Amino acid sequence: MKADDMHVSGAPHEAPATEAVLDSLLEHVLHLDSGMRILWANTAACASAGMAREDLRGQRCHEIWAGSPLPCGDCPVVRAIRTGQPHDVEKTTPDGRAWYIRGYPLRDDAGRIRGGVEITLEITQRRQAELAVREKEERLRLALEAANEGLWDFDPQTREVFYSPRWFTMLGYEPDAFPQVYETWLELLHPEDRAVAEERVWEHIQRRESFNLVFRMRAAGGDYRWILAKGDVMSCNAGGDTRRLVGTHVDITDLKRAQEERQALVHELEEKNAELERFLYAASHDLKTPLVTIEGFLGLLENDLDAGDPTRRREDMRIIHEATERMKRLLDEVIELSRAGRVIDPRAGISLREVATEAVAQVAGPLRARGVAVSIAPDLPIAYCDRVRLLEVFQNLVENAVKYMGDQADPRIEIGIRESAGGPVITVRDNGIGIEPRYQLKIFDLFDQLDPTQEGTGLGLALVKRIVTVHGGRVWVESEGPGRGATFCFTLGAPPEAPDAPGGGEPGDTGPDPPASA
Ligand code: ADP
Repeated sequence: MKADDMHVSGAPHEAPATEAVLDSLLEHVLHLDSGMRILWANTAACASAGMAREDLRGQRCHEIWAGSPLPCGDCPVVRAIRTGQPHDVEKTTPDGRAWYIRGYPLRDDAGRIRGGVEITLEITQRRQAELAVREKEERLRLALEAANEGLWDFDPQTREVFYSPRWFTMLGYEPDAFPQVYETWLELLHPEDRAVAEERVWEHIQRRESFNLVFRMRAAGGDYRWILAKGDVMSCNAGGDTRRLVGTHVDITDLKRAQEERQALVHELEEKNAELERFLYAASHDLKTPLVTIEGFLGLLENDLDAGDPTRRREDMRIIHEATERMKRLLDEVIELSRAGRVIDPRAGISLREVATEAVAQVAGPLRARGVAVSIAPDLPIAYCDRVRLLEVFQNLVENAVKYMGDQADPRIEIGIRESAGGPVITVRDNGIGIEPRYQLKIFDLFDQLDPTQEGTGLGLALVKRIVTVHGGRVWVESEGPGRGATFCFTLGAPPEAPDAPGGGEPGDTGPDPPASA
């Protein structure tokens, strides 16, 4: 076949300048006639075939590139010639190389298809690069799914934000539950944290700093979770003026809770320590007083024995005896107080009416001696507390009520109950000497006696306070002042298992909420 027979009129390869351009390409370019014979091949195609251009001319393309990436039927030039439309394909050869092949139909001046052009480019490297990028993306996706942190990526110019699926699920939402915009973040912030958090974010963008922020965000259930947000400002153009903020969200609610519990425990321990210090100071001071008395009167006794004065000797011995009695009482109450910190069996439901009745019976002697009338309300509730300790509370309060009755002609003690917003309040009311408002907190302190000449140790109300506090309740006193009687009030903590717990009787008068307790 003569070269001229294969020539397609007007084919571009005839212009030397065009040939030079085609020769400069990395792609293999073949000009084929409609029988797939090579009319012209550029330098890259010749190099690929390992043949000179003249030798390729007239050869059938698929014979030269036997084992080429495409079976002939699939060849895009064959399809371009058949359909009159350009076609392209990407194929991988068995040796793992990847190719892009484009077939283009060529027409003569009359518009008849006379052949085609095949352009082939090896894209193995591009494919490998794409694969590497895809692998990286997949790894990133897996890492995001596995990570506990939610990821966000904020563009301050458009105010668009990418929120990772974990960002949503961390707060209990479905992934993509909200639009991926800045306003979504703002809207979910706790109203009290919003202004500060927003200000800080924009500040960091301005200063191009990384940041750590802690705030609360609304979860799907409506509750707020503590979130730690860490972020960094990134420049995304050469000028460095377009900035993005990229970072993570971590739910630190449990950590916060643990911190708060620890702080509360530390606070409680500090309070206990301070109380112990006060206690030790007061105890050593008060225990010393009878000792000093004993020591002093032992000296006097010695003198009086030498002088042979039986009256004074008896008096000395009486005072020494009283001092030892007082010391014994003090020691007993100190031991009692130390025991009161330990609770016992709060689950047993006990009738407060029974306990109050028993306490009154134990104080029967002083009550009778003073002629005090006692009434106990029939509707005292069942309480979930330690019976022995509650008995001590009532006993101390009733004993005090008798002790501080003064010269009341019609002495009365009423043990009752009233309802308040904080639950039932148990009251022990007397019509005795009363207490000035300024002493109403102080009397619950250790060894505090308003009248040190009175018999007593100043430990009774400290013990009451300790027992009530250990039960989760509060104690306080109400008195309109001297001569107006006193009402000691206390609550007990919530029962361990609620609903059928302390059954109150008829609701009494609804008193005010307890004031700051002792
Ligand atoms: P004590 O009775 O051993 O002195 P408490 O701790 O029981 O110690 O009481 C502390 C102080 O509170 C008493 O010294 C007394 O001044 C005052 N007080 C306690 N109960 C009453 C009461 N019902 N009426 C008036 N004052 C009281």
